[in-house]
Amino acid sequence: MRLDTSGREWGHVMDWGGHPEEDLGALTDLLDVTEEQDWQERALCAQTDPEAFFPEKGGSTREAKRICQGCEVKDDCLEYALAHDERFGIWGGLSERERRKLKKRAV
Ligand code: SF4
Repeated sequence: MRLDTSGREWGHVMDWGGHPEEDLGALTDLLDVTEEQDWQERALCAQTDPEAFFPEKGGSTREAKRICQGCEVKDDCLEYALAHDERFGIWGGLSERERRKLKKRAV
């Protein structure tokens, strides 16, 4: 089970390892879901294996990046990751290192 930097299980969106219907109220409180995060409901990775998005060190990111290329909310996802300084995993088709480079270029 992987956690993001805030300690929540990402599962890249709605895979919370439980029953989303039952946990929806608590989940909403936990995430403080805002309109800006509505994109997460359309995340393609929610329909896939979340483990692919948090590979072990040195593991392949190819499959996750391939999925991201076909994701309609890729830009929102990357923007979110950059804004929240997400350190782990693939977000918006970019790895942690690629996001760091992007941020450096933007400065
Ligand atoms: S861009 Fe990738 S990581 Fe982001 S929501 Fe889409 S599939 Fe998930």
